[in-house]
Amino acid sequence: KESGARKFQRQHMDPDSNPSNNSTYCNQMMRRRKMTEGRCKPVNTFVHEPLVDVQAICLQGNITCKNGHSNCHKSSSSMHITECRLTNGSRYPNCAYHTNQKEKQIIVACEGNPYVPVHFDASV
Ligand code: UDP
Ligand code: UDP
Repeated sequence: KESGARKFQRQHMDPDSNPSNNSTYCNQMMRRRKMTEGRCKPVNTFVHEPLVDVQAICLQGNITCKNGHSNCHKSSSSMHITECRLTNGSRYPNCAYHTNQKEKQIIVACEGNPYVPVHFDASV
């Protein structure tokens, strides 16, 4: 079975792509990373930074997650991210996404030993 750490990497990590203004990025990536199977995942963020830099967020200050858990951590610096948001008229199985580049601090939840990211909570 896929671990939480692996699932985070599949859904949220894309370190090698240069966040170029490619309007088809989300349509391709949401499908390639298997977030359009069974349903169209409504919102998903990809992070264009080295994995070690994202893992290091787990060592930064604890904050409360949206769901009330206390294992969330906010990056001290802003990161290159792409936010994928389902378009209004999109209907499964034809999942169509808006692609939006941003530079924001990100909040992830971490778990386990090693203590690594397992959930993307928000960007601020
Ligand atoms: N998500 C994301 N980026 C965001 C917000 C949400 O990738 O900025 C993803 C993330 O995988 C999260 C999921 O969307 O687990 C559901 O988010 P949330 O719980 O905030 O959405 P809701 O349950 O309110 O639809
Ligand atoms: N999780 C967590 N804190 C949260 C939300 C989720 O520790 O605030 C954990 C949850 O226990 C699960 C894992 O993160 O094992 C993945 O959660 P989810 O599938 O919602 O994350 P996503 O990959 O969609 O961001």
